[in-house]
Amino acid sequence: MKVIPYGRQSISESDIDAVRQVLDSDFLTQGPAVPKFEEQVADYCRAKYGTATSSATAGLHLACLALGVTAGDVVWTSPITFVASANCAVYCGATVDFVDISLKSYNMCPNALEEKLIRAELAGKLPKAVIPVHLSGQSCDMERIHKLSERYGFSIIEDASHAIGARYLGEQVGCCRFSDITVFSFHPVKIITTGEGGLAVTNDEVLDYKMKLLRSHGITRDENRLEGHSEGPWYYQQLELGFNYRMTDMQAALGSSQFKRLDEFIATRHKIADNYDTTLENSAFILPHQHEFSYSSYHLYIIRLKIGSNIPSHREVFEFLRNNGIGVNLHYIPVYHHPYYERLGFDRGYCKNAEVYYSQAISIPMFPALNSIDQKTVIDCLLSIDNE
Ligand SMILES: *Cc1c(COP(=O)(O)O)cnc(C)c1O
Repeated sequence: MKVIPYGRQSISESDIDAVRQVLDSDFLTQGPAVPKFEEQVADYCRAKYGTATSSATAGLHLACLALGVTAGDVVWTSPITFVASANCAVYCGATVDFVDISLKSYNMCPNALEEKLIRAELAGKLPKAVIPVHLSGQSCDMERIHKLSERYGFSIIEDASHAIGARYLGEQVGCCRFSDITVFSFHPVKIITTGEGGLAVTNDEVLDYKMKLLRSHGITRDENRLEGHSEGPWYYQQLELGFNYRMTDMQAALGSSQFKRLDEFIATRHKIADNYDTTLENSAFILPHQHEFSYSSYHLYIIRLKIGSNIPSHREVFEFLRNNGIGVNLHYIPVYHHPYYERLGFDRGYCKNAEVYYSQAISIPMFPALNSIDQKTVIDCLLSIDNE
């Protein structure tokens, strides 16, 4: 049976040529393609600096380290995200906690954040950093989160893994107007791909320096950064304990080539979304709400089964769609449901809205190469479900 996936990369002949050119060149890694890609993405976002990484997970880890997240600190994120948004803080020895989502945007709810901050201040345990996640490519309400950060003194890392090309209040996500660092992912299901890869943008020179240092073992060759004097032309020093979180030139060349089609990809995703919006309006599903401040990148199109008689159930609908060749998915299982986080002391039901969302959400096919025939198959299948 043919399966229509929920997401898929789009690779062109010129993407393949771009990678081939690197393979024929002198540098497979640490060559010119990486800084070129970093500059392209940073310029596009109107951010000053970009650091390409082996994955968004690595980028999030570097962002936490650059901001000084360490043992004894607390970091907050959304429960409805991929586990990496939380794990990056655990890698630094910090404790993670979760702020419930809004049932409109499915993003971290600013009201819930404010209430939690008030309680945390009374308890003397304010977060060092907050990691809002732009779920499905729709920006969080960053202006409000930023205001709260000024009042309560925490850093902000935007997990924009879904959101390259998205806009918030007319500016590109990644401009970092309301955050310290923004991290993108280039995993093949995301908006543009480098195979594996991520990129962290910032306007802060010191944060950029720290992320670049830690990306490559904590090693520098820069004479001005050395402790003491250079011992010769071969000389370098390890200043901090860093990692090998580098992106290769093959990946960066693919990224630069994909990047040329970014706006086109997003325009196509919007067309697909518009078609779902109109055809599924009177279906058994709640459609994704779009805030007026947001221009989504539509990484995902998430629908929620309305609470009717609840026949068929969420699970039955999910299985029905899969059995009919529609590769639906669920983004995401609340992070604190995972056994690892349960062992850290989180109970099921910890975030009320996240639980409601999890019991209803389904990601339906959304990718630029989804043709109108396949989209119609998806729509017809969804319209055949009646839960009145
Ligand atoms: C994909 C994803 C990540 C991790 O990205 P990688 O590049 O695979 O490491 C982190 N957060 C969110 C929200 C994601 O969707």
